Amino acid sequence: MAKLVCSKCDHKESVPMHCGKEMRKEGNSLVCWMGPGCGIQSIPEHCGAQMDLVE
Ligand SMILES: [Zn+2]
Ligand SMILES: [Zn+2]
Repeated sequence: MAKLVCSKCDHKESVPMHCGKEMRKEGNSLVCWMGPGCGIQSIPEHCGAQMDLVE
C-alpha cells in the first residue's frame, strides 16, 4: 500500500481511495485511477508542506 509521508516530521497516512483503489499522484494532485474526470483532489499538506507519496 502506498503512503503519504510528511518529509518534515515523518508523519504517515494512508492514500485516499477512489472507486475502490488508491488515488495516484499526478502533478500537484491526487487523481482517481479512472482519470481526473472521475476524482481529483489536492495532495494533503503536513507541517505546511505537501506530503510525499511513497510506494
Ligand atoms: Zn473515481
Ligand atoms: Zn509533518
